[in-house]
Amino acid sequence: MKTIKVSVVTPDGPVYESDVEMVSTKAKTGELGILPGHVPLVAPLEIGTVRLKKDGKTEFVAVSGGFLEVRSSEVTVLAQSAEKSEEIDVERALKAKERAEQRLNEQKSEHVDFKRAELALRRAVNRINTAEERK
Ligand code: ATP
Repeated sequence: MKTIKVSVVTPDGPVYESDVEMVSTKAKTGELGILPGHVPLVAPLEIGTVRLKKDGKTEFVAVSGGFLEVRSSEVTVLAQSAEKSEEIDVERALKAKERAEQRLNEQKSEHVDFKRAELALRRAVNRINTAEERK
């Protein structure tokens, strides 16, 4: 079966690299599915799960937005943070979710940066969901 090389990279270094049969994830414009031979493309991503199909199995990587680029039959995902599903600390994500929810509930406080809290909440929920997908 044909494959395409995929790298998921963050400022801290590479998180995932493999030859896979298909990459799918959520771009800002909607669901994106990349097969070998895909035309060059750059797409901004949502906070979401990148799914990588390989040998009849699917691997999952949580990404905090960023960009997906297809070039020379290679896919690169550049994200501020990314974790393979098996490396996600669910307890930590649950605590982050709680903290973010508390901040969002402090309606009267002038000190709460709502956008920041909302993004933290979305990252935490995404990590919890991505960790759940592997089961
Ligand atoms: P927290 O409040 O728990 O730090 P966060 O969403 O603010 O969560 P980020 O700033 O997105 O964290 O990430 C900081 C670093 O910690 C990144 O390297 C990221 O991959 C890692 N990270 C964050 N949350 C988790 C988690 N639940 N499991 C594993 N790694 C995580």
